[in-house]
Amino acid sequence: MSAVEGYCMKCKSYGPIKDGKKIVMSNGRTRMAGFCSQEGCTGKISKIIA
Ligand SMILES: [Zn+2]
Repeated sequence: MSAVEGYCMKCKSYGPIKDGKKIVMSNGRTRMAGFCSQEGCTGKISKIIA
């Protein structure tokens, strides 16, 4: 599975999304939601991928 990168609001850096899950929203678009992969950061990352 290829990593999707996103921006973490908590540590303010850009990196791969950990434990990412694809979520299809009601408007038909796909969102990848997961957690920041930075060590010690518990921030969530959500990104629209399609
Ligand atoms: Zn983070």
